[in-house]
Amino acid sequence: MTIPGTNETLRAALQDVNTPNLLLVLATITGDDIWLSERYAPAPIEAPEGSLFPDDSGGYSAELTSEIREQAMSILAEVREGQRSVGQAPSLTRFQQMLAFSTGEEVALETAEMLMEETRFKNRDVQWLPTLQSAVSQGKAAGFRVLIVGAGMSGLGTAAKLKEAGIAFTILEKNDAVGGTWYENRYPDCGVDTPNHFYSYSFHRNPDWSGYFSKRDELHAYFEQCADEFDIREHIQFGCSVTRMAYDEGLNTWSVSYSRGEEQHTETFNAVVSAVGQLNQPSIPNIEGLSSFQGAMWHSARWRDEDLTGKRVGVIGTGCSCVQLLPKTADRAGHTWVFQRTPHWVAPARDYYKPVEPGLIWALNHIPYYAEFHRARMILIFGDRSWPAVVVDPAWQDQSVSVNEANHAMREVLIDFVKSGLGPKQDYVPHCVPDFPVWGKRLIVDNGWYETLARADVSLVSDGIARITETGIETNNGDHHAIDVLILATGFKSNELLSPMQVLGLGGQDLAAVWGDAANAYKGTSMPGFPNLFLLYGPNTNIVHGGSIIYQIECQIHYVMQCLTLLLSNEIQALDVREEINDHYNKEVQAISGQLAWGHPRVESWYKNQSGQVINNSPFSLQKFWAVTHDLEPADYRLLKTGSNL
Ligand code: NAP
Repeated sequence: MTIPGTNETLRAALQDVNTPNLLLVLATITGDDIWLSERYAPAPIEAPEGSLFPDDSGGYSAELTSEIREQAMSILAEVREGQRSVGQAPSLTRFQQMLAFSTGEEVALETAEMLMEETRFKNRDVQWLPTLQSAVSQGKAAGFRVLIVGAGMSGLGTAAKLKEAGIAFTILEKNDAVGGTWYENRYPDCGVDTPNHFYSYSFHRNPDWSGYFSKRDELHAYFEQCADEFDIREHIQFGCSVTRMAYDEGLNTWSVSYSRGEEQHTETFNAVVSAVGQLNQPSIPNIEGLSSFQGAMWHSARWRDEDLTGKRVGVIGTGCSCVQLLPKTADRAGHTWVFQRTPHWVAPARDYYKPVEPGLIWALNHIPYYAEFHRARMILIFGDRSWPAVVVDPAWQDQSVSVNEANHAMREVLIDFVKSGLGPKQDYVPHCVPDFPVWGKRLIVDNGWYETLARADVSLVSDGIARITETGIETNNGDHHAIDVLILATGFKSNELLSPMQVLGLGGQDLAAVWGDAANAYKGTSMPGFPNLFLLYGPNTNIVHGGSIIYQIECQIHYVMQCLTLLLSNEIQALDVREEINDHYNKEVQAISGQLAWGHPRVESWYKNQSGQVINNSPFSLQKFWAVTHDLEPADYRLLKTGSNL
């Protein structure tokens, strides 16, 4: 990395950077521990009262900040002029020490190891890539074809790795563009609720995010750009919906049927990676009279750009989608009614609409190591810091509305936020305070939710929907609300993973029947009896407490690439996870899930099935999921070879 520009460019950029992060840069370039000394120790990272998002600025005096920037100016100018080298990337133990210094918190060695990979100070692919490339160069992958179903974030990430390894693959994508959820969802204000500099592939960071929480168009553009940069477009067939896949035991291959418009096709693949996501089938509520409604009606994930000006608009649902779309919808509508079944927890967010400062964008692009340390600190600050607050403390006396002391403290803070946000409409407060623990459902990042409910032209209706009529919605108390437009922000068929595809494994067993309504998989990835079928963002992989789903997916891709390496380097045809291994793993998953906020008996959500079992969420912290997926254990699998299964 070379540092462009002049001293003035550098000086301007340094006004916008995070000081504790800058100290790590200086310590790395100079190799001098002075930058990690007591004099520069930052203040503890704490969330300002009522905010989910902590202040990590370091709390330095103006004098000390200016001194650090001046020193940084001269050191970086020397690097730019070629008078100083950029030093060495940190070793694991030094990285651990640096992160502990810059956060003022203990950082476990394993956490530092994970962050070495997330920052690419260490390339995690070395674990499989050289072996796989060697197998490819020896011709062992000749004729081996992988199918990826879906060109969203999971599919694109997998494709990047297969391409790098030289494995033949095809992506079948039902839409006419890449991006999956970020292609399909276009409702007003649709955007990410994870800090953006962490919401990107570790191997393809984006230093140019315009916002701390970017909106849908920019996110979709990122994935479009990934498709180009990974050079995988020629492998994608758009407009293709996979309908059926069946395992051929004789050949150890998958026969995959898909439709493209009116045409039906069937092709054979050696392995299938399902990258269809958990949230792509809109859930249309089963409410009496829904189909009789005569006005315009659509689901939040199938947004229609109809003019809402002056219209009477009804929105059903109060999850993330509704919260995001409501303020802009209410701005246009004549009156908006929000039909709430149960309230969700909503937390205030720092920097939600703030553009990223030009100097920070410059630093992420041009200051050596800045982007790496920035990402590592983001993951520390916005990831597992919340984990202790979601774990049930058996000693916590009243488990009815919270699971431990920290969880209860958050509850109190958020109740205050409800009250302050609702302003003149304090009568809404009892309807807006959930009766389940914080983090029982996804904690929604606020974009003006309570202020919008407090508007005179917005009404919260909590009486329960009795039926939908031709002209509006009738509630259980007999009121009828006449509306012109009905928006269904009612979520997704998240429990029907892989639907509507029919998946037939060994002995013709149907995966939908095997699962019933309790989908499960080993490490969220493999199912016994379905060899060489790998699920990304599969059962029990979703995150609730904080973090980026791209992180989870990358952990799984890393695991799948090890599976393919094992296969191809040993000339085995297929891997079938052992039933007892899967059973043991999933017993543990369920036991842990019952001890987490989202397993709480009062939580009814898209994470649970009819019998209250958590099937979508990971029971692990980010750190633990990394460890769980990091190293393939070959003995977990039956190794299938045509003619002689091992
Ligand atoms: P959701 O969280 O499942 O919310 C659906 C809403 O519809 C809930 O309030 C639910 O009520 C209500 N509902 C469903 N069926 C109903 C019925 N028959 N009658 C009345 N109300 C009904 O769906 P979502 O808001 O689309 O979010 C789904 C997930 O997508 C989120 O949890 C999040 O992971 C992700 N997401 C993320 C973002 C982001 O990152 N920015 C944005 C949007 C979505 P109950 O609460 O009572 O069940």
